[in-house]
Amino acid sequence: MKIALTGTPGTGKTTIAALLPYQVIDINSLVKEGMNLGIDPDRGCLEADMDALADCLKELDGEETVILEGHFSHHFADWAIVLRLEPSALRSRLQARGYSATKMQENLEAEALDVILVEAAERCQRVDEIDTTGKSPQQVAEIVAGIIERRLRLPAGQVDWLMEFFG
Ligand code: ADP
Ligand code: MG
Repeated sequence: MKIALTGTPGTGKTTIAALLPYQVIDINSLVKEGMNLGIDPDRGCLEADMDALADCLKELDGEETVILEGHFSHHFADWAIVLRLEPSALRSRLQARGYSATKMQENLEAEALDVILVEAAERCQRVDEIDTTGKSPQQVAEIVAGIIERRLRLPAGQVDWLMEFFG
């Protein structure tokens, strides 16, 4: 079974995936390694080949749990776990990554407006949402494991950053 670990860039997907006792497929690496349509001239980064990715990932529909990790992994799974982070905390992380002002604003707004959560809810049969703010990577990984093992259910809709961001 494929489970997408998704969220706005900087919310901790790669860090958390590395702590999980499951096979992890890094969607960004697949894109870099060839599943792309070249550089998108407007954005200056590689444009993912969504059809090629979908074809390649379709073969992973066995019994075994596989984590798809990346900010559009929810396009390729029926179940998504969305990592959320307060925009002020996300800002610090993206600053540390050296994001430009434009890219920073775009990502903070996407987090504040639940963009990935909404996309996941439109595509996936099940969506769980974790507020990672103030939690250590180990704590978040334990919550993710609890969700995957079906001991925990954190339905979408608990997180609301609107007052914090726009209030
Ligand atoms: P993503 O893969 O979602 O873009 P990363 O896993 O690369 O995010 O994490 C972004 C940054 O935030 C990294 O420097 C990472 O060490 C840090 N980080 C991730 N999760 C946490 C956490 N729960 N608490 C503190 N720092 C974290
Ligand atoms: Mg990452």
